[in-house]
Amino acid sequence: MLKELQVAHCPSCGKVYQKNLRNLCRECSSRLDNQLSAIDRYLAGNRFADTASLSARTGVPVKTIHSFIRSRKLCIQHYPNLTTACESCSGPTREGKLCTSCTKRLTMDIHSMLEQEQALRQRSRDTSSFQIRHSSY
Ligand SMILES: [Zn+2]
Ligand SMILES: [Zn+2]
Repeated sequence: MLKELQVAHCPSCGKVYQKNLRNLCRECSSRLDNQLSAIDRYLAGNRFADTASLSARTGVPVKTIHSFIRSRKLCIQHYPNLTTACESCSGPTREGKLCTSCTKRLTMDIHSMLEQEQALRQRSRDTSSFQIRHSSY
């Protein structure tokens, strides 16, 4: 019996490849390995490097470094100047997907949205109670 070949498009380069655990074609996964080890080698001697200089020295695109940080292939705990990009304003952030100011802004947005919703609900409740009262007359 023939085993069905599991193929997919590589999310990194778009080429069709045989599916594997890393979900990347062979070229892309070995390229990523090379990039990661270049980053590790550079950081070993430059603990205080920031993302831009790390990218310039290793030739690894900033975007790739960000994705390494997000996927936790690159742990920035020991590198105080490494950052990833905020998903909202693409400003630098070290924690999570959003920078501190976007987190703050979003929390406030959600808060005012909830307040608005509550006010709206209150108003519609007033209207409907008025209607009920009105029709019962
Ligand atoms: Zn690929
Ligand atoms: Zn932001």
